[in-house]
Amino acid sequence: MKNLHNALLLKQLYQLKQLGYKYTSVVPYKEEELNLTLPNTLSSLEKQASNCHLCELSKSRQKVVFGEGNPQADIFFVGEAPAATEDSSGKPFVGRSGELLTRMIENVLNLSRADVYITNIVKCHPSNNQIPTPTQAHTCQPYLLKQIELTKPKIVVALGVTAYHYLTGDDSAIAEVRGTVHKLNGYTLIPTYHPSYLLRNPSAKKEVFEDLLKIKELM
Ligand code: SF4
Repeated sequence: MKNLHNALLLKQLYQLKQLGYKYTSVVPYKEEELNLTLPNTLSSLEKQASNCHLCELSKSRQKVVFGEGNPQADIFFVGEAPAATEDSSGKPFVGRSGELLTRMIENVLNLSRADVYITNIVKCHPSNNQIPTPTQAHTCQPYLLKQIELTKPKIVVALGVTAYHYLTGDDSAIAEVRGTVHKLNGYTLIPTYHPSYLLRNPSAKKEVFEDLLKIKELM
């Protein structure tokens, strides 16, 4: 698969850059030597991800947090990375942020959590809740792109700047872009604040409420 092939090449380049290389002739991974095909069902994809050791987050994780929800969800939420609670449970958004996200889905979108799909940019918990590095995010990205391809959502909600950045390539601040509507590959992307930001800054709930109403209108 081209995305996975590119992710592996990118990982290789980041590693060489960290070692001080400025120019190199990278020996590309040969597709016949590696199984670069991602499965075409969410359950098989989850099985493959659960044994993934493509980046260093695999060394410290307890469980791979693949994502969960309706496999044909119209709304697909993407956060940054699993937190410690998710690392031990293997489920996305189960801590205080998750409770807030669930209330947002139920009370504003009038949906149940089981109606939507929820996942993260990286599937393994970064220790000390660090922001995933570009190498980690790009290495894990093929799983996310395949999840979106298989689920075929109408709307993808980027929760926070990390999700927005890796889904669009734009590094604008989340405060500048929240609530904006982006037409991407077959779906509409809307960024808003991450629930953990709302726990620290409750006054931003009003803006997220507006963003969710916009999502509801688009539906
Ligand atoms: S974060 Fe993604 S790429 Fe890294 S080990 Fe986990 S599943 Fe694999």
